[in-house]
Amino acid sequence: MIEEDLAAGAEIALEEGHARHVGTVLRLDVGDVVRVFNARDGEWRARVSGKTKRGMNVRVEEQLCEARAAPDLELLFAPVKRQATDLIVEKATELGVRRLRPVITQRTIAETVRLDRLQAIAREAAEQTERFDAPEICEAVSLVRALDGWDVARPLIYADEAGDDASATWGGERGRARPILDQLNAPHPPTSPQGGGGVSVLIGPEGGFTPEERRMLRSFPYVIPVSLGPRILRAETAVIAALSVIQAAWGDWRKG
Ligand code: SAM
Repeated sequence: MIEEDLAAGAEIALEEGHARHVGTVLRLDVGDVVRVFNARDGEWRARVSGKTKRGMNVRVEEQLCEARAAPDLELLFAPVKRQATDLIVEKATELGVRRLRPVITQRTIAETVRLDRLQAIAREAAEQTERFDAPEICEAVSLVRALDGWDVARPLIYADEAGDDASATWGGERGRARPILDQLNAPHPPTSPQGGGGVSVLIGPEGGFTPEERRMLRSFPYVIPVSLGPRILRAETAVIAALSVIQAAWGDWRKG
């Protein structure tokens, strides 16, 4: 992924990490072809035009693919332990999320969120998965603040494991949430990516949401509580499961 503008004839000095990848890992030399891309200009064929001990230059030749934006899919997640948070960021990026928003809930135990570290993970995952952009990663804010001024036309798919009332039946005011596919297939979602709108997903921390948070979330008309099945998943598994189902039912998995 290249920050510079890509256009035929542009001569670009690769940043250190890319130069190392192209020179040492791929073992490319002057005259070899390499693909470069960014979110603005899409994907281009380029050729290694210069190589020194410390760097590498490429000359851009021809566009291979137009830029394509990631779907308007946003993940709100409570930061968990470091490794699990890293996994959430990596997998959400692979699954096409456009924006990641860490939210601090009442039972969130992670104290710090290193944005620069998460951005580096997202960038690497985006490159590996050949998407043209890395997702935006926002500063952590409280759940209440994240919901303040929410665009009511934008559904918030809320993974509600109902851990506080496991015996409750499906649906209703206090009962367990409906299965995610039933909810996505129901005619009621006010807007969905199928209609050109965006969608957000909310996954809780290790300890789940408090009863107070569950009540608050369920009181908002744009919140769609969903179950991800009868087993309690780790937060990182819940992220992967929810995003996969949403991409399959509403998102860009339908386009092949
Ligand atoms: N409250 C639970 C507890 O402490 O046993 C666990 C919470 S779970 C590890 C973390 C988050 O993943 C939950 O807050 C929820 O958003 C999501 N989650 C996990 N399993 C789920 C399920 N079966 N249905 C819906 N959401 C689930």
